[in-house]
Amino acid sequence: PAIESKRLRIGMQKSGRLSTESQALLTSCGLKINLREQRLIAHVENMPIDILRVRDDDIPGLVMDGVCDLGIIGENVLEEVSLQRQIDNESAEYDVLARLDFGGCRLSIAVPQEEEYQGASSLEGKTIATTYPRLLTRYLKQQGVNARVVMLTGSVEVAPRAGLADAICDLVSTGATLEANGLKEAEVIYRSKAVLIQRKGLNDAQHLKLINKLMPRIQGVMQANE
Ligand code: ATP
Ligand code: ZN
Repeated sequence: PAIESKRLRIGMQKSGRLSTESQALLTSCGLKINLREQRLIAHVENMPIDILRVRDDDIPGLVMDGVCDLGIIGENVLEEVSLQRQIDNESAEYDVLARLDFGGCRLSIAVPQEEEYQGASSLEGKTIATTYPRLLTRYLKQQGVNARVVMLTGSVEVAPRAGLADAICDLVSTGATLEANGLKEAEVIYRSKAVLIQRKGLNDAQHLKLINKLMPRIQGVMQANE
């Protein structure tokens, strides 16, 4: 018998703000996903595809290292990881197959409510806490502002009140969390949506055929949602 070709691997967030809609997208494309228990790998029953369910932060690297063929990820994380990997001299290449219609959010700088904010120059000499040091550093550089960037992976919005930072740079959707922490949105530095990415140099004929079959379905699902 012919050697069975390897299954196409798609990385998606296991649980969080992108997981429900990522899964719904694949399901509407006809993938029958067996999501039993909390498995890392879910087999698609009716196509030669495996779904890798991981933390969103791991998805860009999995695609850039060629471990996953496709990935569904927020542009904010994709861009942050990409910038960091370029600095570290690691491969940071990928192709965007589609910008998706979910996961919308903005990365913003927020300052204490009582503070007068008069543009990026108000940040000169300040300490800013963020989970996105590369995106923030790029923005500050573009603005010609010197500020100290402090990395926090969680509880970023409490940093100013805790005396850890003067300002923050964090994801915002409604602004309610900012307000609850005595902060106000001062500057939007990045607008993000979820995207479907493909690893560079994917050239397996079967995989390409499968992707070519899936793409019109994805476009169709998005059009139907409009
Ligand atoms: P994980 O455990 O996978 O690392 P997480 O806690 O880092 O999850 P989530 O909060 O689930 O991440 O957010 C995942 C992505 O969802 C964000 O990186 C962003 O692209 C998108 N997103 C959409 N709306 C929001 C929002 N209001 N706040 C934060 N992220 C949002
Ligand atoms: Zn994460």
